[in-house]
Amino acid sequence: MEGFRTLQEAVIYFSDFENCKRVMVQLRWKDGVVACPRCGSQKVTWLAKARVWKCYEKHQSPTFTLKTGTIFEDSPIGLDKWLPALWLVVNCKNGISSCESARDLGVTQKTAWFMNHRLRFAMKDGGFGLLCGEVEADETFIGGKARNMHAATRARKITGTGGKDKTVVMGILERGGKVRTSVVSNRKKKALQAEVRKHVEAGSALYTDALKSYEGLGEFEHQVIDHAVQYVDGKVHTNGLENFWSLLKRGLNGTYVSVEPFHLFRYLDEQSFRYNNRKEMNDSERFTLALSQITGKRLTYEHLTGKDREPITEPAPSVN
Ligand SMILES: [Zn+2]
Repeated sequence: MEGFRTLQEAVIYFSDFENCKRVMVQLRWKDGVVACPRCGSQKVTWLAKARVWKCYEKHQSPTFTLKTGTIFEDSPIGLDKWLPALWLVVNCKNGISSCESARDLGVTQKTAWFMNHRLRFAMKDGGFGLLCGEVEADETFIGGKARNMHAATRARKITGTGGKDKTVVMGILERGGKVRTSVVSNRKKKALQAEVRKHVEAGSALYTDALKSYEGLGEFEHQVIDHAVQYVDGKVHTNGLENFWSLLKRGLNGTYVSVEPFHLFRYLDEQSFRYNNRKEMNDSERFTLALSQITGKRLTYEHLTGKDREPITEPAPSVN
């Protein structure tokens, strides 16, 4: 990405619509020839005033914009806000709260909250291919801290001595490669082993702690480190994931007031994206990579807020 290296520069660069257009066209039409996303026709005209293209083929909705077919579609927020917002979320090491991005981008906190969730959706790893070589698997508990909750939320959620309201997150890490994370329903054998088999190639070296749920993964070269005895035995350890968990928790505890279990997977996607792309990549390259993932995805307000599920603690944006 030419033209900027810092957030400040990104904000200035994208305040010019022509720059937004150049970046988006480059991203979406590699050879620079704009084609209608609905029919593929290149017989299109740019209507500068309305900032839309008109397609001359006969079909419904004959116009399209830079945002059509991306996570930005139907959003009233301009690219001059969206693109710096993406820059922010991919490059802040511990994540970014909606309060911070609201301040940096000049939007309301509600708007920033919704924007950040859409952007996390873009950062989701497709998860193609199996992890192989030396692989660590581990799970951890994530739970909102009582002192950060509103009194009503605390009364609703803290019903026991702890643990009950915690969410289990499973992590699988290929050493020297990528991490995959997911929210699992519990720490029982069925749930954990299903994740391992889904993401790891049979025959790989697999390292876990001594939790009984990992017993019986015979198709892997499975070795166990018993944390009651020691944390490292040569190659047998789960320190790569321990490191990832501490980054994740630092981000969640330091940056976000509270995260409801329903939204946790999006924060996992965000942290995994940064972790998986932290090396040999500068801020610009990380931004470009995330930008390449914005097309072909949609995230509606209804889907985001999970209307039939438990309420969210951060204020939801107003729909307009
Ligand atoms: Zn068309």
